[in-house]
Amino acid sequence: MALQNPSESLLVRGRFAPSPTGPLHFGSLVAALGSCLQARSQGGLWTLRVEDLDAARCRPEYAQDMLATLERLGFAWDGELLWQSRRGPRYAAALGRLAELGAVFPCACSRRELADSQLAPDGAAVYPGTCRAGLAEGRRARASRLRVPGERLAFVDAVQGHVSQDLAAEVGDFVLARADGSYAYQLAVVVDDADGGITEIVRGADLLASTPRQILLQRLLGYATPRYAHLPVAVDADGEKLSKQTLACPVDAARPVPTLLAVLRFLGQEPPASLVDASVSELWNWAIANWRLDRVPFCRQLPAPC
Ligand code: GLU
Repeated sequence: MALQNPSESLLVRGRFAPSPTGPLHFGSLVAALGSCLQARSQGGLWTLRVEDLDAARCRPEYAQDMLATLERLGFAWDGELLWQSRRGPRYAAALGRLAELGAVFPCACSRRELADSQLAPDGAAVYPGTCRAGLAEGRRARASRLRVPGERLAFVDAVQGHVSQDLAAEVGDFVLARADGSYAYQLAVVVDDADGGITEIVRGADLLASTPRQILLQRLLGYATPRYAHLPVAVDADGEKLSKQTLACPVDAARPVPTLLAVLRFLGQEPPASLVDASVSELWNWAIANWRLDRVPFCRQLPAPC
């Protein structure tokens, strides 16, 4: 729910929002540590949200496994864990508000019907506008889409610099909810970040192309836009993003210090060699006191160190 106490709104709040589709790997740990240090180094709070909207791919046991791994590595989060799968009513309310603004329309197109469309940066089809002016006779709505305005949306990312996207040309009207009652990541993430009073979003650069969609939704819903920092994504030797499914570069939670040191180095931090012999809490103290976002390499991908 929205913050009630005005003094709370001055506080820095970060979050880590993993999808429980497999065990935590090096790539997710980069986002976990980067988001945590960015919040903690400013004396802020750091919260955890399980993004389990995709019922077909997410499993509660993966979430439990990720949480256990984070704890073994010395992560501590503030407040209650948030599960997206339990927040349907909040997403429904936001969708209702957007509909009242006339920003939503029903769409009957199947994936197959959109298969010939140009592809957006995240691999989804750029919506060709088929149902924008109304459903054709006899067609049934499969999804609700946001009517995207024909203008460029720009923002400054704290790591990647100036980013701009022509939403209509590069993404098109995008899905907010489906007829089966499920909600899209783009809507859920915006509602959750606003309800949680999140001021700093630190996550992988694979989500950079989603950010203009999220900023557009924030503006329509009257939410503040947080600061964004998109970290390089850890890739394997073929330049592919590490995948939880292939168990690429698994995280060794039994050896927290070397594991965290590898992530710090990946993020351009310069931990002294003496930290190899440090305790987990000494390592965390060093990392919080010495975190420098301006040292994070401003590229979208970097090879994982394994
Ligand atoms: N759940 C997303 C992921 O695991 C991250 C979403 C976000 O940080 O906004 O890739």
